Amino acid sequence: KVRVRFAPSPTGALHLGGVRTALYDYLFAKNKGGEFVLRIEDTDTARYVEGAENYIMQSLAWCGIVPDESPAIGGPYAPYRQSERRAIYDRYKDQILETDYAYLAFDTPEELDNIRKEFEARGEVFSYNYQTRQQLRNSISLPHEEVQQLLNDQVPYVVRFKMPVDRVLHLQDIIRGNFTVNTNTLDDKVLIKNDGMPTYHFANVVDDYEMKISHVIRGEEWLPSMPLHVLLYEAMGWEAPEFAHLSLILKPEGKGKLSKRDGAKFGFPVFPMDFKDPESDEVWKGYKESGYFPEAFINMTALLGWTPANDKELVSMDEMIAEFDLHKVHKAGARFDPQKAKWFNHEYLKLKSDEEVLTLLKEVDGIKSFGFSDEKLLKIVSLMKERASFVADIYNDGQFFFQAPTSYDEKALKKAWNDTTSSTLANLSAKLSTTESFEPEVLKETIHHFAEEQSLGMGKVMMPLRLALVGELKGPDVPDIMNIIGKEETLARIEKAIR
Ligand code: GLU
Repeated sequence: KVRVRFAPSPTGALHLGGVRTALYDYLFAKNKGGEFVLRIEDTDTARYVEGAENYIMQSLAWCGIVPDESPAIGGPYAPYRQSERRAIYDRYKDQILETDYAYLAFDTPEELDNIRKEFEARGEVFSYNYQTRQQLRNSISLPHEEVQQLLNDQVPYVVRFKMPVDRVLHLQDIIRGNFTVNTNTLDDKVLIKNDGMPTYHFANVVDDYEMKISHVIRGEEWLPSMPLHVLLYEAMGWEAPEFAHLSLILKPEGKGKLSKRDGAKFGFPVFPMDFKDPESDEVWKGYKESGYFPEAFINMTALLGWTPANDKELVSMDEMIAEFDLHKVHKAGARFDPQKAKWFNHEYLKLKSDEEVLTLLKEVDGIKSFGFSDEKLLKIVSLMKERASFVADIYNDGQFFFQAPTSYDEKALKKAWNDTTSSTLANLSAKLSTTESFEPEVLKETIHHFAEEQSLGMGKVMMPLRLALVGELKGPDVPDIMNIIGKEETLARIEKAIR
C-alpha cells in the first residue's frame, strides 16, 4: 500500500518549495490509490512559530491538497504531531540502545566547543565520528562503571548514532538514481537530545516506520540525511521506504535557490497565504491575496520540475493525479518564472464564465461604491477578461469604465491631437447627442459616417475620441466603452477633453 507523508516543521510560512513537495507527495499517493499523510514535526521547540501549523493546514486546503490523515483529521496512526508522540520515541530509544548502533554521550556543549576550537587552531574541522569518539566522553570510550556512575548521578547525556566504520552504502533514489557513500564521511548524529526529546532524524524515521510510510518524497536538502536514515532502518531491523529527493526551485535568473526575499523583489510573493514574518513582523502577501486562483497556482507549481505528457501546460488536479510519475520528475533545478506564473492565472481566468468572474469582481476593493448593475459589470467582464491576469485587473486596468480620466497621457496627446481635433470632436459630440441608440454597432456606424462626412480617416476620429474617454490609447473598442459608460458620460468626457 502506498503511503506518503508531508512532514513540515511549523517554523514559519509554507514557501513555494514546501507547497511543491506537498503537491508531489499528494499527486504520487493519489496516482497510486494510496494515502497522503500530514505530519507536523515540531520537536525543535526553539524554532517553533505560533500559528505556523494552522497556516500550513490552511494553505494546503486552499491548494486543494487534502490529507487523508493529519493532526486535524486524526487517523489510525494518531497523534500526527511529534510533540505528542514522546512515549513512542522513548520506546524506540530503548530499542536502539540495545543494539550496537547507538551510544550515550556525556560531553557538555562547552567541552565540545573547546574541542572544536582546538581542531580549528590546527586548521582542521572537528567531527564527532569514528575517529574522534574514542577520545570523547561516551559509553564507548568510558569504562562501564563510570558510565553507570554518570547515569546514577543523573548527568545529562545525548544518544548518538554509532556510524559504522568504512562501509560503502549503495543507495537508491527514484529521482537521482543510484549512488554510493562511504560511512567514514559521516558523523555520529545525535538521535536523542539531553532533554529526552528525539532529534529530527530519529523522530522522522520512527514515525515513517510507525505510520507505514512507503515512499519518502522530500526536498533535496534532505538528501545528505538519507544514508543515516537508511542505516537507522537497518539498526532497528526495519525495511526502509523508497526515497525520492526533489531538486531545488531556482531564482528567475536560473542561479541560486529561490528565497522568500525573492518574492518581495519581484513584487510577487512566494507564499500561498498572508503570513507574518516572525523575524521582521512584515506581513507577506501571498498568492491567494495577490489574486491567484488555486487551480492556476497549483498548475504552475506542479510544472516546476515535472512535465506532463505532450508538454501540455494546462492541467487540472485530476489530470495531474492521473499522469504524475516520479520517474519523470526532473533531476535539474526548476527555474521559477514570475511572468509565467501570471500567464497561468490569465489562462484560468479566461476559462471561467463571465458570471463566475462577476461574482469575484464584486468582491474587489472599491468597486461597490460605484453601484454598477450586474448587467453593466458583466459587459465590462466580457470586454476585459481576455486582457487581465487577475480579476482585480479588470477593475484596475478598466478604471475608465468607472470614472473619467483625470489626466491624458502625454505621448498619446502628441500622437492623437492637432489644431483641428477639438472642433472635430465638438462636431462629433453634436452628432452623438442626437443619436437615439448607444448600441456598439450603431455607434460604430455613426462614427464611420461622421468620419466620411468630414473626409477624415477613421484613426483621426477614433484616436482622440479614445483619448478623451480613456485618457490613453489603450483598452477595448471605443464603441464598446461608449456603450458601457453611456451617452451622458461620453458627451461629458468629450466636453472635458476639448475645453
Ligand atoms: N521536518 C522536515 C522539514 O521540515 C521534514 C523532512 C522530511 O520530509 O523528511 O522539511
